[in-house]
Amino acid sequence: MSIPNAVYRENDDDLGVPVYVTDIDKESYRNKFKYHLFCPTENCKAKLVYVQTKPAQFRTWRLEDHLSGCDYEFVRQGIKAGRSAEEINVEMKDDQRRRVLKEALELARMSEQQIENLRAKRREWRINRSPKTDKDNKGPKINVVTVDGIDEGEIAGVTYRSRPVLKRDADVLKETDIGKHRCVTGYFERQVEDEGRIIVTIFRKKTQVKIMFEEAFRANSPNFVGLFHHIDKYLSKYNEAICIGIGEVRLSKDKTQYEVQIFQGEDFTIDGMNLLGLAAHNAHEKF
Ligand SMILES: [Zn+2]
Repeated sequence: MSIPNAVYRENDDDLGVPVYVTDIDKESYRNKFKYHLFCPTENCKAKLVYVQTKPAQFRTWRLEDHLSGCDYEFVRQGIKAGRSAEEINVEMKDDQRRRVLKEALELARMSEQQIENLRAKRREWRINRSPKTDKDNKGPKINVVTVDGIDEGEIAGVTYRSRPVLKRDADVLKETDIGKHRCVTGYFERQVEDEGRIIVTIFRKKTQVKIMFEEAFRANSPNFVGLFHHIDKYLSKYNEAICIGIGEVRLSKDKTQYEVQIFQGEDFTIDGMNLLGLAAHNAHEKF
């Protein structure tokens, strides 16, 4: 969730001054504000991160907790709600899919700087691991998975030997993704119902991707079909949400954009919640 302003505080005794995203750029963030931005709510000590999206925004620093009752506390609650809803669902997908969705969300919430740090770490890792002789080269090959150049394993702290689902931001899908399963991330734009299908349009950097919920989805996850209105309800309050779906990539009929076909309810999340989790979340919200 985007937070309208932050409080800049050098140390605990400092009363702090309010700052807005427009007061900060990449340079000053790195040299001055990083580690010193906090939630604007009185007495809330949650650290914030400056994210250079367009427009730039403040978000909760990863794993930081807000004061109970803080306006910006919901992000965590949302994740909890998603988790419990998933537990209810006995036919839950394997751990890998959930992990991929979760990691994609973490990535989406990272600042440019954090992503840059991950890249630097990967380069270091590659140099240290590069085989020196032919003999060294004969070991089992490790599949290094990159998302915009980031190794997926670095987020989870593991290296995979099997082939996981590749993550793609909506604006970096390419021809070679067609026909394959991908985990696609973007911001919610709108949803429409069209001849029994539900189409959720997401975007990133002006590139739109359509997330398609069709017959296969209805058949696999009938209990999710009636829940799409919860997205609009949620957006009416938070006006921005990160959508992530695992599905098959294809080109639209007019060949102008990519579509991702989702096959089951657990494979699509809004701010980390699948539709069941979102319905549970909305039930506890005041609108
Ligand atoms: Zn707070």
